[in-house]
Amino acid sequence: MKFPKLQYLFRLDDICPTMNWDNFFKLQIIFEKYNIKPILGVIPNNQDTQLNIDLPREDFWQIIRDLHQKGWIIAQHGYQHKYVTNKSGIIRLNKYSEFTGLSYNEQFKKIKNGMTILEEKIGERPVWWMAPAHNFDKNTCKVLKKLNFKYITDGIALFPFKKYELYWIPQQIWRPQKKSFGTWTICIHPNSVDNNFIRQLDFFIANNIEFLNRVDLTPKKSVLNLLFTFYWYGKEYFYKFLKNI
Ligand SMILES: [Zn+2]
Repeated sequence: MKFPKLQYLFRLDDICPTMNWDNFFKLQIIFEKYNIKPILGVIPNNQDTQLNIDLPREDFWQIIRDLHQKGWIIAQHGYQHKYVTNKSGIIRLNKYSEFTGLSYNEQFKKIKNGMTILEEKIGERPVWWMAPAHNFDKNTCKVLKKLNFKYITDGIALFPFKKYELYWIPQQIWRPQKKSFGTWTICIHPNSVDNNFIRQLDFFIANNIEFLNRVDLTPKKSVLNLLFTFYWYGKEYFYKFLKNI
């Protein structure tokens, strides 16, 4: 099969028992209406009080299991979602992390603990990784490989690529945006969407359905990946440079 010219994936971040359930269910209705299976970033043992929006739902794991049964992808979203370092990691989007800068052994313990919880609750080991704040480092990747993870939903590129023996499915946008080619993951935080966003999402999916229902995760070697990465980070340095002169 020819690699699709354009494809979109969706990921939902900060899935935990105390998230904004009203928003979550509204998003679920839209994804189910179009039969789209997003990547759910589930926090195994949330300790981040900023994510306490609603009272915890007792049937949280049952809901996650049901969605998993329906084919939604479960990604491990860290362990406790608690930021303990101020380093910026591989992606360099944020300067706070649950993992970046910690030793291999410290990271192994946390990721293994989280993985065990997900395995117990869902009945299957996660193979997708979603780092809180997009922040992780080479040691994280070594641990993930050791624990048989396969995919990372992150990376500034135009196509899926392989690095540190893991498949990276790039994630570059935070709202629906029309693109002409490449693999784009749209990152959505159910805690912070509003009705306007949800309406736009519905409209976007309805108009782009052909790019949403067949996703090819095969890594693609392309010089465009490198150019896109240079463009993305170069832009950031260029603006900093301009600000400083
Ligand atoms: Zn998060």
